[in-house]
Amino acid sequence: MDMAEPNPPRPDIPDAAGQPAAPGSAADRPPADHPPTYYPPADYPPGGYPAPPGIGGSGHPAAFAGPPRRHPGEIPLLVIVVLITAAIYIGALTSVMLGDLTGLGRYALVALTLPFVVWVGRGVTWASPRVNGIQMTPTQFPEGYAMVREAAARYGLREVPDGFVVLGNGQINAFASGHQFRRYVVVYSDMFEVGGAARNPDALRFIIGHEVGHIAAGHVSFWRQLGTVTMQYMPVLGKALSRSQEYTADNYGYYNRPAGAPGAIGLLGGGKYLCGEVDFDQVADRASADRGLFTWLVNLQASHPVLTWRAAALRNRTRAGALFFAPSVATRGIGGGAVVPAPAVPTFAEQEVLAPPPGGR
Ligand SMILES: [Zn+2]
Repeated sequence: MDMAEPNPPRPDIPDAAGQPAAPGSAADRPPADHPPTYYPPADYPPGGYPAPPGIGGSGHPAAFAGPPRRHPGEIPLLVIVVLITAAIYIGALTSVMLGDLTGLGRYALVALTLPFVVWVGRGVTWASPRVNGIQMTPTQFPEGYAMVREAAARYGLREVPDGFVVLGNGQINAFASGHQFRRYVVVYSDMFEVGGAARNPDALRFIIGHEVGHIAAGHVSFWRQLGTVTMQYMPVLGKALSRSQEYTADNYGYYNRPAGAPGAIGLLGGGKYLCGEVDFDQVADRASADRGLFTWLVNLQASHPVLTWRAAALRNRTRAGALFFAPSVATRGIGGGAVVPAPAVPTFAEQEVLAPPPGGR
C-alpha cells in the first residue's frame, strides 16, 4: 500500500462491479437515501493518524504474529500479586502461631483454609460439566473435539484437554480450568453454535485456541490459582494481571487461527447471529479514536481488556496489547507487520441533528 495515499480505499467493500471503489468516486459515496449518520472526531487529522515510526514499509517486526508470546506485563504483575498473596499467608501463619485469634487473627484462620477452598472449588467446577454438559468426542461434536485437539497439538501439549459444551442460556462465554492432572475447556452452547458451517467456524477455532492457550500458558494450574487467589480482591493490580493473561491467551488464539480474530471480536460484541455483520476495523479503530477518562476507567476495572482495545491488539501484531492506556494510533492490517494508518474513523463525535418537523415549533 502506498503510504503517501491519504485515505486508501477499503479493499473489502467492493462496488457494484466487484472492484474496490476509488476514493471520492460515486461508488465510494453513500447513496443519497442513506446519508452518513456519523462524523469523524473534530481532532482527527485529515487522512488519518500518521503511522508510528518504523511501521509500514520499513518492516517493523510483527513480533506477535508468530508463535504465541506471553504478554510482557504478565510475569511482572504475577510476581507482585504472588508476593502480596504470600505476605498475607505469612501474616496469617504468624498470627495463628502467636495465638492471636481475636480481631484480624480470625481472618488469618480463614486465609489458612484457602488451599482447601481452592481445591474443592476446582473439583466442583470440573465435576459440573461432566454431569451436566455434553462432552466433545470424535463422534459427538467431532468438529469441536478436532479444534481442541488441533490447538493442543499446535501448542505442544502432551495431552488433549477434555472439551465440554454446557447450556449457555444466551450467554456468550467459554473458560478453561483444571483439577489435579486434568485440564479441560468448557464452551457455552450459545458460543459453540457459531462453529456451524453457516456461521463462522474460524471464530470458534480462535476461541478454543484462546482457551487451550490458557492451559498451555499455565494459567489454570492449582499452584498458579492458589498463588493468585487474592487477585479478584485487588482492584487495580489483580485486574491488570487478569487482562495480561487474556492478551496472552489471545496471542495463542491468534496463532491457532489468525483469520478467526475478526469473527471472535464480532461474536463477543454482537453475538452468534450478528458476528458476521461486525466491521472488525471499525471496532478496532475506536480503541484510539474514542478515548477519555471513563473509557479508561471501564478498562481499569475489567478482568478482560475492553473489546475495542482487544480488537486493536489483534489487528496490530507489532506490539503487545494495551493494559492501562488506550493505543494512541489506529493502524490497519492484520498481522505480518504490514500495517497502514487508518482512514477517518466513523464515530459519534456529535449527535445527529434532525430537521425540524414541517410547520413545527
Ligand atoms: Zn480468556
